[in-house]
Amino acid sequence: MSSIDFGRVLKIDLSTEAIKVYELPAKDVERFVGGEGIAAKIYWDEVPPNISAFDEANVLIFATGPLTGSGVPGSGRTIVAGKSPQSYPESYTISSFGGEWGAELRYAGYDVLVIKGRAKKPVYIWIRDEDVEIRDASHLWGLDTFAVREKIIREVNDEEAKIITIGPAGEKKVRYASIIHRSGHAAGQGGFGAVMGSKNLKAIAVRGTKRAIKIHDPEGLLALVEKVRRIATLMGVTTESSPLYEGYTKVGSPVVSELIPFIEKYRLRNTGCHDCPKGCHVFLEVPGLGGGEMTCVQFFYGWLQLGAKGEVDEACFLAKQLADKYGINVYELLQLIPYMLVLHEKGILTEQETGIPFSKFPEKEFIETLLSKIANREGIGDLLAEGTWRFADRLGRLKEYLTMEGIEEDLANKFGMVAGSMGYGTGGRGYCAHYDPRDFIVSGILWATGHRDPWSYSHEYIAVVEWSGLDFEQQQKIAEIAWGSRDAVHPIGNPKYDEHEVRAAIIVQNRSAVKNSLPLCDWIYPILCTPYTKDHIGDIEIASKLFTAVTGIKVTEQDLLKIGERIFNLERAILVREGRRRDGDTLPEYVFLYPHRWTGSPPLDKEKFNKVMDMYYTMRGWDVKTGIPKEEKLKELDLDDVARKLREEGLLS
Ligand code: SF4
Repeated sequence: MSSIDFGRVLKIDLSTEAIKVYELPAKDVERFVGGEGIAAKIYWDEVPPNISAFDEANVLIFATGPLTGSGVPGSGRTIVAGKSPQSYPESYTISSFGGEWGAELRYAGYDVLVIKGRAKKPVYIWIRDEDVEIRDASHLWGLDTFAVREKIIREVNDEEAKIITIGPAGEKKVRYASIIHRSGHAAGQGGFGAVMGSKNLKAIAVRGTKRAIKIHDPEGLLALVEKVRRIATLMGVTTESSPLYEGYTKVGSPVVSELIPFIEKYRLRNTGCHDCPKGCHVFLEVPGLGGGEMTCVQFFYGWLQLGAKGEVDEACFLAKQLADKYGINVYELLQLIPYMLVLHEKGILTEQETGIPFSKFPEKEFIETLLSKIANREGIGDLLAEGTWRFADRLGRLKEYLTMEGIEEDLANKFGMVAGSMGYGTGGRGYCAHYDPRDFIVSGILWATGHRDPWSYSHEYIAVVEWSGLDFEQQQKIAEIAWGSRDAVHPIGNPKYDEHEVRAAIIVQNRSAVKNSLPLCDWIYPILCTPYTKDHIGDIEIASKLFTAVTGIKVTEQDLLKIGERIFNLERAILVREGRRRDGDTLPEYVFLYPHRWTGSPPLDKEKFNKVMDMYYTMRGWDVKTGIPKEEKLKELDLDDVARKLREEGLLS
């Protein structure tokens, strides 16, 4: 067995300006691999449970994985982790972004970057191989993310420097501020841009010229890369007639077809991440608004426009450019804007009092004013910057929001919008709705037991049951391979509330955790179905084969799932230390009250859902009453150290 070429940590304490480089223990790399797993381990070791997201003691972890920079398609994402100011209540979570920054960090010689403390004045970090500097950023404070990128490139005098930065929203600690890379790659969910702002950290620039990533079996890897190119649903392959392409547009991401004429009008090219042939972003250039990259969620304003007036215009791109320049997570706006419109309809928010031109929605005047107020925390923007749940809570209306009492009617009748599914409403824990539990019970389990919106990095289930266009029998064949039973899938809105669906949810969670640790991008992996084989079955073992080719360590998909289970349990232990229990594993009430207006799915049966949750805890090896992992489960997963700490703190029964 070879050892994994991974584990070099660059740790910077902004309070003391101490810069340290160290190696992670080999055992931790074996247990947690990289990315999401290693981030959870570092957080577990370093961060006390009772701090706030903006506390100096919170850490910001940027973690690559052993496949980053190796040439594997879809290995270009970087995990960001820490205590999240966006989650309600604040809790540990992760985010991620694509582009080239993670690979560049590895080429500079580091696999993980840990930021601690708070700088006394605005700073940025410049990493060039072994030279690491904390530089003054007073002159960059207040600038938007695009301007900062250009200025830093000039200052470090290196066109190849890769930069992540926050905008004014991060500086003002808008709870859903994002971290922006290039012109449209964002770590949005989680609000880690605000954590950077709280640390007075404006940007991190990196350039790596020295380190070559070790590849154990270069020839084998090339053959596997070729296979991924052949069977993954990649751009530019002429199989649009396949059922697997239904739901996909020519931009590679699943967006509604009404957006396509707009995209085609302004698209210059497709773009993507390091080593990835998929190119799932589009680079648009709109006269007067400049150029920028977009992927599915950045079309959020287009979706709102479609709901409100039935057509998309340039205000859609303006909304994306402004959000990325200010550094605002567009996903949060997808629940905040419709909610504000409802409050305006009810006379609770007026134009006069707020200064927001509601009558201009969805034209550009509305979005310009709104985003400027949020990013600068100006007037009502100060409250809106707290996020939809906290905003509703401050108005004394959180219960009403979670039950959608009177809200769904207003959305549907006045704005042509619907609560649930792809937006307009809440999914849980402060995050915008995303794949509705009423359609698929697996979604309910993921939302109830996750630490944020789980779907952005767990699309495998929806990719089969919704995007693939495969008939039910074909879906069942894939379900058997992917989730252990043909009964893991059900017709939309018609769950059986049984153990097969629960097992599917558990496997999706475990696979997502390890996938984010290698890392492999959720837009490609796992390759469960494909247009390029006769039976439409992909290659579920491809991730393990890629890992083996790069590291020389022989693993199977089952081995990877076990690592994923370990990571998921460690994350649960973190949440448990922060106070999470079974009674916090909830869904917003409206999914138990109303049918889904778009799909016709009936409301979930609460009693049956509770029984499903009993099954979930039992199958996980967690206490059914409390939702805390049992000691024997932690030990089985080689998490004795975690069990010991939980026991010391009186958290194990
Ligand atoms: S599929 Fe898209 S987001 Fe994922 S690595 Fe490739 S280009 Fe990046």
